[in-house]
Amino acid sequence: MSETIEKMKCLIIGSGPAGYTAAIYAARADMHPIMFTGMEPGGQLTTTTEVDNFPGYPEGIDGPTMMVQLQQQAERFGTDVRIGMATAVQFSDEVGGIHKVTIDDTKHIEAETVIIATGATAKYLGLPSEQKLRGGGVSACAVCDGFFYKNQEVAIVGGGDTAAEEATYLANICKKVTMLVRGDAMRASKAMQHRVISAPNIELRYNSEVDEVLGENVVEGLRIVNKVTGEKEEIEITGLFIAIGHKPNTDIFKGQIDLDEMGYIKTIGKTTKTNIPGVFASGDVQDKEYRQAVTAAGTGCMAALDAERYLSSVQKVIIA
Ligand code: NDP
Repeated sequence: MSETIEKMKCLIIGSGPAGYTAAIYAARADMHPIMFTGMEPGGQLTTTTEVDNFPGYPEGIDGPTMMVQLQQQAERFGTDVRIGMATAVQFSDEVGGIHKVTIDDTKHIEAETVIIATGATAKYLGLPSEQKLRGGGVSACAVCDGFFYKNQEVAIVGGGDTAAEEATYLANICKKVTMLVRGDAMRASKAMQHRVISAPNIELRYNSEVDEVLGENVVEGLRIVNKVTGEKEEIEITGLFIAIGHKPNTDIFKGQIDLDEMGYIKTIGKTTKTNIPGVFASGDVQDKEYRQAVTAAGTGCMAALDAERYLSSVQKVIIA
């Protein structure tokens, strides 16, 4: 049985701000990019309501609308946006080599350059009451959503650097922040712990877990359980922030590209280059620190510029 193989100069995997920005730049550079959107076209922002911190939107914009606009902008310059999931990759480690990517287990692609923008997925506790109230007061991004809880009482779950950073961010906006750490110590750096401890309106509770998120349509409170005593207690809050880590979407790249110990793609220096010539990574899949739409967009731009320079340097054209 013969197989159809589609050849292209530039394949973009993933459709968040990084992927679309890479697409805008790659299309304008005549690289004829083809993007496969993944399972969640538009990425993490499609699960956000209001985006108030992306420059250029003085009145804010809702996440799904912003992603539709980014898609339209990428298409305006000729990006071919398709729904599909990269399910396997076989990268060439030679300069000028051809990278093979399988889409939806059935379609075969050969690309001169690949821009990976598959993002990361925030981890949640997994409680049904938490899942029900996502978008109704449960958020995994304090920087995105904290503003909506100005002068209100909120809680944050987690004891790592993200939780500590977000707790101090929230403490500047909110009346009170209850920080729930499941163990008897925080994992965050000493400097971050110090910032948490010295904030007068952060109440730190160790050995504490969320037993239930309370509220029908919006968050009204939490039932907390103390893991040592077994004691349960209800507190009133209007916002719950989950900061227990992210999982980079890199499962299909394992063994094909250098990942760090947490599974994020390693990039070289200040570039988006990976250890594989012609394969570039942008957005949250390679960034565990900033994780903002605007920083993802910035690295998407960099990836397209890096890919363009790479193509010029190898001067290899497989498409007539
Ligand atoms: P981490 O994996 O470092 O920390 C996760 C935290 O969440 C831990 O305290 C963990 O508890 C807790 N946790 C995990 N699962 C649950 C659960 N089901 N219920 C309750 N608590 C849970 O993730 P971060 O996102 O904080 O950080 C990721 C990486 O990014 C780290 O290397 C960090 O240093 C880095 N980072 C650096 C920043 C900076 O330098 N400015 C800012 C943000 C992140 P436990 O400890 O008990 O496992």
